[in-house]
Amino acid sequence: MLPKSLETECGNPRFPPAVLLGVEDPVPTEYPKVSEEDADGEELANLYIMFTTNMRVTRPEILRGVRASEVLRHLPWVWLRRDLTSLYPLSHEAAKFDQFWSHSWKGALWAKYVNIFYLQTCLPANIVGIISASVACVLVSEGLLEARKGWCLLLGFAGFCVTPLLWRSGKVVFLDMACINQRDQGLKGEAIISMGAFLKQSDSMLVLWAVLQIIPPLLGPALLGGEILFGLACVAYAYMETSLASSEDLRFSAAVHVVYHGGLGILCSGFLAHALQGYARSVETLNEQLCGFKAAGTSSTCCEQGHGPETETTVVCDRAILFQCITHWYGSLDKFESQVQSEVRTALIDQLANKSMSYQRLLLFFTPYVWIRFEYTASYGGDHIRQLVDLTQTFTYWMAVYPFMNKLLFRLCYRFRARCCRLHRDILLSVAVVITAFLYYITFYIIQLYVFQQNKHDLVLSMISLVSWLAVTAILWRIT
Ligand SMILES: [Zn+2]
Repeated sequence: MLPKSLETECGNPRFPPAVLLGVEDPVPTEYPKVSEEDADGEELANLYIMFTTNMRVTRPEILRGVRASEVLRHLPWVWLRRDLTSLYPLSHEAAKFDQFWSHSWKGALWAKYVNIFYLQTCLPANIVGIISASVACVLVSEGLLEARKGWCLLLGFAGFCVTPLLWRSGKVVFLDMACINQRDQGLKGEAIISMGAFLKQSDSMLVLWAVLQIIPPLLGPALLGGEILFGLACVAYAYMETSLASSEDLRFSAAVHVVYHGGLGILCSGFLAHALQGYARSVETLNEQLCGFKAAGTSSTCCEQGHGPETETTVVCDRAILFQCITHWYGSLDKFESQVQSEVRTALIDQLANKSMSYQRLLLFFTPYVWIRFEYTASYGGDHIRQLVDLTQTFTYWMAVYPFMNKLLFRLCYRFRARCCRLHRDILLSVAVVITAFLYYITFYIIQLYVFQQNKHDLVLSMISLVSWLAVTAILWRIT
């Protein structure tokens, strides 16, 4: 089995972390029973290794899963009550899992929660947001709602916000804090011994990173927070535009537009670029660490807390067991280390450096742009051709131009990730990166104006423009 995570956490460090001696009947009848008197660490370790390496479960009832939607609904409350153990009743017996959620008990819970929330609900929330904005667009076009009053934005944003609260995913997942009884040490020991079986019965694995403070687990918070801020900025823009439309002072209107688009846009993008450069540096650090990965350099909570005859509770060392399991699976620790240094490192860095900004994520991020564009489309209720042109242009920007512009920004941040000696130079570099990415947009805009005659609102030309830009984006996406 190729490990997908570099970290293995067996249990909660706040509780006794590993299998305690004298657990209540953790062994099925076909295995020799370990009595309290003659059990010692070595025997229990061998038993543990036998179960883990063969990925077996002590009893079918030990395999428990929980619905992802239940975790999302209850986790914030139990977290506020500081009683994560009360998640256990939400779980139920399960033969298969849609996903195995691996995480570090040390990481910030709120960030992990937002990550899960984003991954589970963002797609349906955005789909409902677009459908709601489309309904508003039709109602405004038919004259049932007043034009340019923000209905599309409002309904789009409402659909986006309400969907996660109502979304009930049928996905059954394994999450240790919900599926392992943290109070009953016997059940806990059995579940830990059966961890291999949990993995074996899972269709996929989600690793929520919070390891060694290298990878900030902020992908979900950044994308979700960014989209909400972008949506709010669109609402503010729509409101400001309506107010300025009635303003007599054209120079004042132009100045406000320049400040809003230029100042705020470049400033926000500059901060974003600065954060992305920090992210790129942490990925590079991880890359360097994995290049020299040695199993001997790893640590385990049980070793930090101490175990063995000198401590009150004799526990089996997770780390020693893990090494034996690895030796069983890979042949030797050396082979495992070389696999981590080569295949695992390449796959992980590819995920973090290239795939974290996927096309789908960027498309979702810019959904508020579609809501605001529907406002304009709806205002041409009597002219269906003009509405079609508007929609075509909206899709050109949303599906082709914005995603690639941001991928370009991300690639440039990665390329110019090296830290300068002074903070102000760092910030200047970030702004330079943003301006370079913005040049792509300016080039696109000039081509739109002079080649595809964007302002003449010709249906055929806008269709050709959409197809051309989608093709160009597909090619650029592949080569960058
Ligand atoms: Zn240990």
